[in-house]
Amino acid sequence: MSLWTNILERADLRSRERRAASAHREAMRALQEALSAAESAQKTRDQFLARMSHELRTPLNAVIGLSRVLEKNSAGNMRPEDLHLLGRVRAGGEQLLRLVEDVLDQSRIEGGGVPLAISDADVVGIATNVVKQYRSAAAAKGLRMLPVLPESAPTVRLDPGRFEQVLTNLVDNAVKFTVSGDVKVTLASDAATRKPTRMIVSDTGIGIPEDQLDVIFQPFQQVDASARRSFGGAGLGLPLARQLCEGMGCRLTVESESGRGSRFTIRFPGA
Ligand code: ADP
Repeated sequence: MSLWTNILERADLRSRERRAASAHREAMRALQEALSAAESAQKTRDQFLARMSHELRTPLNAVIGLSRVLEKNSAGNMRPEDLHLLGRVRAGGEQLLRLVEDVLDQSRIEGGGVPLAISDADVVGIATNVVKQYRSAAAAKGLRMLPVLPESAPTVRLDPGRFEQVLTNLVDNAVKFTVSGDVKVTLASDAATRKPTRMIVSDTGIGIPEDQLDVIFQPFQQVDASARRSFGGAGLGLPLARQLCEGMGCRLTVESESGRGSRFTIRFPGA
């Protein structure tokens, strides 16, 4: 190889190295820009969610709270028909509030997760409370609400508020999708240690076809579109419930048979 060829080849190599270094710098700069754009979009989204959450919840809470005050009928001047209508205003407000909260939670999960506050949760107390809340809705449909709960049990490491949200969703569905029979809320515990292992919500309702058992855990999915007209709901409860359970180290599963009923099980961490 002549000296000239050697010099030319080295110069070419240096020039290619320079081009590669400059392309690398350019790619890093583009990456940095994309990253800060994503961070700023995330910040805007968080601010929007916090703001919407406040703006929607405040008036809804006023509608619900004031309806409750009026429903007490302290002055005794409301007719039963008025009280019935007020009850419907309150129930509509509560339904809307749940929907707003589900939509906000779903967006939070998609945007990086819902913060959880794990502590020692009294699962019997929480389940008793949820059963109490649904007693009158179940009775109005002629359903029996059967809590199969011990007097007390050791606590479970969970986010108590989020666990109550999941259980409320399961009981709400059980009451909604059951025409006759009963809804049971059962705590299963380890026979030796008394430690709770599972919370089960079972019903004798319309059931879920086998090919839909996975689909119902996807956002905005319901067993059939006509059900949306007759039962309402947005199809957000179960996907949220499953993701919240996973975040708390629990597992949410379902067994069901069309026309015979459904059984949703929350398996506690380590059980
Ligand atoms: P929503 O109840 O708001 O529609 P969910 O995510 O909680 O949303 O439930 C999704 C769908 O799963 C329901 O629309 C219904 O078709 C089905 N489903 C849930 N729970 C039950 C149940 N206990 N019995 C029968 N079907 C159920």
